[in-house]
Amino acid sequence: MNEGFFHEGELVGVLTTQPLDRLLDYKAPEGGCHVGAFVEVPLGPRKVLGVVWRQGKGDYDRAKIRSVIRVLDVAPMRDEMRIFLSRAAEYTLTPMPAMLRLATRAPGLGDPQSMRKIYRLGGQAPDRMTAAREKVLGVLRDYGGLSFTLRELAEMADVGTSVVKGLVKLGAVAEEEAPRDTPYPRLDPDYGGKTLSDDQAAGAEALRAALRTDTYGTTLLKGVTGSGKTEVYLEAVAECLRMGRQALVLLPEIALSGEFINRVEARFGMKPAEWHSGVTMTERRRCWRMVGQGDAQLVVGARSALFLPYQNLGLIVVDEEHDTSYKQEDGVLYNARDMAVLRAAINGAQVVLASATPSLESWANVEAGKYQRLELTSRFGAAVMPKMAAIDMRVENVPGGKWVSPTLRAAIQTRLDRGEQSLVFLNRRGYAPITLCRACGHQIGCDDCDARMVEHRFLKRLMCHQCGETKPMPTVCPSCGAEDRLSAVGPGVERMGEEITALFPKARVAVLSSDLYGSARAMKAHIEEIADGGTDIIIGTQLVAKGHNFPLLTLVGVIDADLGLQGSDLRAAERTFQLMRQVAGRAGRAEIPGEALLQTYQPEHAVIRAILAGDEESFWAAEAAERKAAGVPPYGRMAGIILSSPNVQEVFDLGGEMARRDAPLRQIGAQVFGPAPAPIARVRGRHRVRLLVKADKGVPLQKALSAWAGQFRLPTNLRLTIDIDPQSFY
Ligand code: ADP
Ligand code: ZN
Repeated sequence: MNEGFFHEGELVGVLTTQPLDRLLDYKAPEGGCHVGAFVEVPLGPRKVLGVVWRQGKGDYDRAKIRSVIRVLDVAPMRDEMRIFLSRAAEYTLTPMPAMLRLATRAPGLGDPQSMRKIYRLGGQAPDRMTAAREKVLGVLRDYGGLSFTLRELAEMADVGTSVVKGLVKLGAVAEEEAPRDTPYPRLDPDYGGKTLSDDQAAGAEALRAALRTDTYGTTLLKGVTGSGKTEVYLEAVAECLRMGRQALVLLPEIALSGEFINRVEARFGMKPAEWHSGVTMTERRRCWRMVGQGDAQLVVGARSALFLPYQNLGLIVVDEEHDTSYKQEDGVLYNARDMAVLRAAINGAQVVLASATPSLESWANVEAGKYQRLELTSRFGAAVMPKMAAIDMRVENVPGGKWVSPTLRAAIQTRLDRGEQSLVFLNRRGYAPITLCRACGHQIGCDDCDARMVEHRFLKRLMCHQCGETKPMPTVCPSCGAEDRLSAVGPGVERMGEEITALFPKARVAVLSSDLYGSARAMKAHIEEIADGGTDIIIGTQLVAKGHNFPLLTLVGVIDADLGLQGSDLRAAERTFQLMRQVAGRAGRAEIPGEALLQTYQPEHAVIRAILAGDEESFWAAEAAERKAAGVPPYGRMAGIILSSPNVQEVFDLGGEMARRDAPLRQIGAQVFGPAPAPIARVRGRHRVRLLVKADKGVPLQKALSAWAGQFRLPTNLRLTIDIDPQSFY
């Protein structure tokens, strides 16, 4: 008997992408099918995508069971992928169909391979040679053996397509059908390696040795920005390629992928496969298929690249592992960093978590002996972190409606005089966070959310940062009707642009904020121009904290270092610490030493002091002690429950009932807090209530949560979302 094979007519249990709570039984099609096969099955009047998951149950009238329509022409899902999806579903309390949708997010997987015509050198010599014909044949000879599409060939030869067609008729050029989705070019692990410094070389060797064990392991690769973490983990990628296994590099921000792809090309001679929301549908399909058949060795992508059908995944790198964007905040709520570790453990693969400012979770896993730790101590080339100092805003003389202190102004002037760059950092998009009516005190809010509208002067509109709704800037107050009394309160980056331009009229000023660009490409081009010295003063949001290189930058001025210190988020201190260190790390990357100045009203705050002292270890130790005492992550477990509905009474009623009937949670010693109105109590017209569940580490939290939530009947319009390990609490 063939293990996991079903003959025609045998019952198979199929997982579909449709929101059903169980597998469906079908008869195996003509020719049979394997477990893991991607199939098309009938469901009511429709045909849907599914995967043969296991043997059918047979608890259904056999006469009514229909047959699988066909087995799709793609590599079957591997056992480890089925295990991964099941375990990820259990962990995140996500229904399996939603997991399968995550794993099949490429268009046209059911379609037969589409074909296209390609052209290569034929056998015959043309009877009459012309200059145009000679050019075509020249191109084909130069690229010996390669084939091209009609348009590529005509373009490279600089002739019309009819010339190529003519050569086909004569047999001098051969025309063939080939699949449209082509394998990615082979990467050469020995192509462009750099000479590594001693600790870089030691780090690279440790990672290579870990890979050669062919087993699971996770390494935290820590080092300040510019210490060469990327160079080091690219050596691990190289080793993975040599071993014939596939590698995945996850990046937190697609805006970074362009720069990164170029580095990969410089290191391995060719570009890798890319997977993120900026990739075309055709390219997504190609990537999905080639990963599945082992014809993509390296994928660079966003978090959902974890769900591609790797054949033999040997390494996952999570760059900037502390970045909050690894947590998906809608649909399936998963943390890609944690899922990377799960996937690697199932695949016998290695994980590298790279960061200058690791998350406390990873820090704790190192302490517990679960992760290895590698540290790159010095910056490559230049030696140190920039000099850091606080500017005490309580003693600075700053006029109302202005935010740049005289001290910061003088520091920027010095850089201008020396022809160096400055960065003015403010983590607030738009022009002003509040639009206030001076006549009645009304603040303009979003109609659908419990949030203020933010003025975007560049777009000439007000925008809600919760739901994205925009409206034109009104001229009269929508509340009292007063004319010309609306005024902007508080700074955003656009407003900082105005202030800086007024202070330094001769300087070249650029505002860097993701919403100011029409496309990722436009943003990338602008960033490159700035890095080359096209700007004297850069004004930016957290976009600039993430991995761009500005070699001429020697000063970072943080407008509001206190932003983020307040708030109910348990990670507020951690995030502020990370963000400030990352921003400061932008200064002085080349030979010239840098300086970071933090404007603050609370220079004695523990977080601000730790940042200034550069004393990471003691910051993390203090933060860990506080969280241990409070029993919160990473030393305890949490789950957020969000109830939302257009009906405010219903959410509070259900919330109250859930808090009362908490027996399944009490059984594992967990506690429920709430219900409380969410900090943003209304989003897109839905009222929101939160509950928080806290438990000890090591208890079966997910099981208890499902038993608990399973007790309640939800009104039709009420949505209940469970967020395991919540990162945001809005
Ligand atoms: P990180 O990832 O830690 O921020 P990178 O790997 O991006 O650091 O290195 C910072 C810069 O220094 C990059 O431009 C990189 O190419 C360069 N660099 C790092 N190590 C070396 C090396 N051994 N030889 C040459 N250039 C290096
Ligand atoms: Zn809104």
